[in-house]
Amino acid sequence: MKTGKCIVLSAPSGSGKTTIAKHLLAQENLNLAFSVSATSRPPRGQEVDGKDYYFLSEAAFKAKIAEGAFAEYEEVYPGMFYGTLKSELDRIWALGKNVVFDIDVVGGLNIKKQFPNNTLSIFIKPPSTEALAERLRQRGTDSTDKIAMRLDKANVEMARANEFDAVVVNDHLETAKSETEEYISNFLAG
Ligand code: 5GP
Repeated sequence: MKTGKCIVLSAPSGSGKTTIAKHLLAQENLNLAFSVSATSRPPRGQEVDGKDYYFLSEAAFKAKIAEGAFAEYEEVYPGMFYGTLKSELDRIWALGKNVVFDIDVVGGLNIKKQFPNNTLSIFIKPPSTEALAERLRQRGTDSTDKIAMRLDKANVEMARANEFDAVVVNDHLETAKSETEEYISNFLAG
């Protein structure tokens, strides 16, 4: 299989990464398709198998690790595995499209390591930890404890921003969207 191009978007939770990813996927000229990850965690709410994630049992996930079926995988929380199947990348590249990843910092940097020449890695940065805390509080979906946990993870992740090809500061959503789009257009044209 011919290897196509990869666009990695990584960011701390609450940075607006998913909103930016959705905007990018709607730009037909960029010819992007979303990489559906596999996970061993159970579906949440309205999540659909094959659309939000490929939901696997822990045993099935481990069997795929043993087969070498993953381009990258990680035990994000104890007993909860997440990973990118090589078959998912082949599926998207066979359509002649470029792959977009909405994954965490460790996973994103692993993709860059796997495909160094055809990956653009972008870190979406909140303007400050205070702004991030404020956004997480306003979102109202997490308890105080959970917010503290996410902020700890965010600080660890922000320390690795300089390992990415590009950093976009999301202090104004429309500007962040167009900056990200420009990085991607330039990369795809190159
Ligand atoms: P959630 O369970 O909230 O959907 O995701 C939990 C975490 O797993 C998030 O930080 C998300 O970015 C990360 N994640 C989702 N898919 C993948 C993947 O394919 N690989 C890696 N390494 N992390 C992933």
